[in-house]
Amino acid sequence: MPEFDGHELVAFGHDAATGLKAIIAVHSTALGPAAGGCRMWPYARTTDAVSDVLRLSRGMSYKNAMAQLPFGGGKAVIIGDAREAKTPELFEAFGRFVDSHGGRYITAEDVGTTTTDMSNVARATQYVSGLGRAPGEAGGDPGPKTALGVFLGIKAAVKFKLGRADLQGVSVAVQGAGGVGYYLCGLLAGDGAQVLVADVRAPAAQRVCQEFKATTVSVDEILSQQVDVLAPCALGAVLDAKSIPRLRARIIAGAANNQLAQGQDGVALLAADILYAPDYVINAGGIISVAREYYGGATQAQVTTEINGIPQRLTEIFERARRENRTTNAVADQMARERLARRPQQQVA
Ligand code: NAD
Repeated sequence: MPEFDGHELVAFGHDAATGLKAIIAVHSTALGPAAGGCRMWPYARTTDAVSDVLRLSRGMSYKNAMAQLPFGGGKAVIIGDAREAKTPELFEAFGRFVDSHGGRYITAEDVGTTTTDMSNVARATQYVSGLGRAPGEAGGDPGPKTALGVFLGIKAAVKFKLGRADLQGVSVAVQGAGGVGYYLCGLLAGDGAQVLVADVRAPAAQRVCQEFKATTVSVDEILSQQVDVLAPCALGAVLDAKSIPRLRARIIAGAANNQLAQGQDGVALLAADILYAPDYVINAGGIISVAREYYGGATQAQVTTEINGIPQRLTEIFERARRENRTTNAVADQMARERLARRPQQQVA
């Protein structure tokens, strides 16, 4: 498969009693055990699920390397409809599947899974993070921490591209008002941005409008809004040869993983003078929280301090890309690969 990139492991897990069909992909353990969330999605074909887990797990290698975490890259997918097929037993069976790899892969929540699901996973394995925590303790739902990192990343992109120090009056179109998008809209509105939002679940978009004085836009039109910033916070591959010519935003900075359908799409963004914040750099807030929870002993305040490093990393990428006249995604990929190749010894656990 074209998405295969020297992955260390691709394992299929099946449990007849609970109907579990899952795939774990470990891309790299060069920097530590492979960590990345578990996505539950009703993939039409098994090959679609394999392709997704291969792409997502490689993205986690790059994300963890760039966030300087003591983790390699991995990901899991459960094939099924999260609205209908979830049971505690199914997640416990998934936990046994995770456990069978002896800690080579550490799981957490992702699209279609929740902290509650992860507590069912934790009945069968210790190799899980993103569980409920006591107030002040690092961890729990990664969504708000991802949103914080994306918010800070948007500010860095706005400063770099538009020369603006704050978001007062800056327009941001948010695609997807779920676990990350909802919190992101709140942070943006709180900083004076003008928020436009779309979600296939109408109540999710309406909630944002009511709580944060945002404006709803149709799902078909959110990507082509004339705005300063477009923040994709739904699914991946939204930026492709079809959508890019329709974009009217000056910056793309959002939470979704694998926003570019192909690396080449970054070239089209550069040609259109659109600044792209590489997804796995800007959306690392959640995995930073998951990492600190997993290794224990950290506070939320320490997690926030680490998330504060995201805008600086992005600015470094933006500056290098401008200097070298390259795409931001190519620069980020190169930096991530360099870190993977270096295998730093003194990563903090
Ligand atoms: P989520 O499932 O909670 O929210 C996604 C939202 O997008 C849902 O409300 C869904 O209805 C909506 N949506 C789906 N298709 C849409 C479309 N075509 N147009 C508009 N809305 C649409 O997921 P999440 O946790 O908020 O994650 C969002 C994205 O960010 C995902 O790509 C995820 O992989 C990525 N991400 C999440 C985290 C995290 O901490 N949760 C961390 C890193 C990256």
